Amino acid sequence: MMVLGRRQELMDGSWKQEAVPQSQQQESNYGSGPPSRSEGPRDLIGGTGTREAMEADKVLLASPEAREACGVFGIYGPGEDVSRLTYFGLFALQHRGQESAGIAVSDGREIDLFREMGLVSQIFSEEKLSELRGDLAIGHTRYSTSGATTLANSQPMLAEWRRGQIALAHNGNLVNAVELRRELEGKGESFEATSDSEIMLRMIAREADRAGSVEEAIAACMPLWRGAYSLTILTPKSVIAVRDPYGVRPLCIGRLNGKAHVFASESCALNVIGAELVREVEPGEMVVADKQGLRSRVVQQSPRFALCVFEYIYMARPDSQIGSRLCYEARRGLGRQLARDCPAEADVVIPVPATGWPAAVGFAEESGLPFGEGLIRNWYVPRTFIQPDQRLRELGVRVKLNPLREALKGRRVVMVDDSIVRGTTKRGIVRMIREAGAKEVHVRISAPPYRWPCYYGVDTSNRSELIGARCTVEEIREAIGADSLGYQSVEGLLKGLKVPRRKLCMACFTGRYPITIPKDVKLSKLDLEDPECQDGRGEAGDEAPHPSPTATRA
Ligand code: SF4
Repeated sequence: MMVLGRRQELMDGSWKQEAVPQSQQQESNYGSGPPSRSEGPRDLIGGTGTREAMEADKVLLASPEAREACGVFGIYGPGEDVSRLTYFGLFALQHRGQESAGIAVSDGREIDLFREMGLVSQIFSEEKLSELRGDLAIGHTRYSTSGATTLANSQPMLAEWRRGQIALAHNGNLVNAVELRRELEGKGESFEATSDSEIMLRMIAREADRAGSVEEAIAACMPLWRGAYSLTILTPKSVIAVRDPYGVRPLCIGRLNGKAHVFASESCALNVIGAELVREVEPGEMVVADKQGLRSRVVQQSPRFALCVFEYIYMARPDSQIGSRLCYEARRGLGRQLARDCPAEADVVIPVPATGWPAAVGFAEESGLPFGEGLIRNWYVPRTFIQPDQRLRELGVRVKLNPLREALKGRRVVMVDDSIVRGTTKRGIVRMIREAGAKEVHVRISAPPYRWPCYYGVDTSNRSELIGARCTVEEIREAIGADSLGYQSVEGLLKGLKVPRRKLCMACFTGRYPITIPKDVKLSKLDLEDPECQDGRGEAGDEAPHPSPTATRA
């Protein structure tokens, strides 16, 4: 069917590593915790009543630990109800972004687009779906990792070139977006939005004008884009899936009813519409679905596979298969490994629902401790639910989680979760479990300390926000008020996941970035909102030379 280029799995010599603070280098066991009870949390995560604490508490309520990416979907299915199938696919990908969603559909001649702020179920009524008629479609659920939360930045985005329309849906983040935009503006291009996705779309449209084909335009643009991108692109007659040469964000191919071709960020979106998983889009590959069938082209040889390890740990749904691993099994394996490396003397193992669930199951299996539910989650808390005063903010965590007192009272509890990013949420949960009567609370984290910001599409891009970057494990234990705290080591992570190190990006644990980050790059998803940045005053030169975006319009 398709012939793929051989993927090279070479280490990228251009990795960059900053020095790790000495206090962190000395932590060799990734665990901390004298069994004695802390006097109470020190002010390491902001301190109650300070402006920083209030902002942190807003984050607590606005998102669990702010780690989502986006979800993309695409289907080429003449004769199928492609809008409704895209709707169901987006529904399955809702966990990847809840700020906005959209569907672009083509009837073979023209693309019709509808996008709105909010959840998939809120945006698309029966009536709206019935209006979106066609044979091929793409869709997107957005969590902003580049650009503000506005309708203009929602996706899919639509552009025109001299022979038609193009719509684009993007998951990931370009690290050279500011520079690309500056170059395009210098060529007279104007922008409606402030995201890297619009830059990619405009580059494709400009290059298509020159090359006469969207496929050729994409192939010409890919070497100019640096960073993470998994794309679904719609033309009036084709659906195109593209993945960056490092494969940072997932993207898979499915088949429906033996003839329709489907693309999705995760395999759970294929399952929900009854499609079978065929394979993943390979790093550096472009796959085109049109009336001729499915065809593949390796546009860029992959220098190194660098799938985001957080897809396995947290981001992807547990019922999604990424690579050869079902995420549920990967997380359960992490819990088992954690129990081997960081055991705890306790009476019961409880998960922080829902993210810590599979790891808690693995921890209980390996340790022989009983597994129990100690926290009940309210699934209907809106993401923008920000309490107006301090007292209500203090109660914030209870809006989302409520303890089962009977399961906790008088017991020594091991609480398992996948990570600690800012620390605010964990502090609230530990306090809640104690107040419910637990004798001891031992926190076990199935990932290593999160110490480095992500530039590739996960929204924790400010290092000062990461408690793991500022504090030792013992200081974090004290800050969250736990009796003991144990983190997975990087080696334990790899053993538990059963995925080779050379295939993963683990930069947020190690500081080794597989794709070079421009020096002094600003760390905000709002970079493109900042006029200083757009003027070039906010950014220094890159370490490695790379092609100029003007080549798109040679
Ligand atoms: Fe994933 Fe961390 Fe790499 Fe970002 S830096 S892609 S969150 S592993």
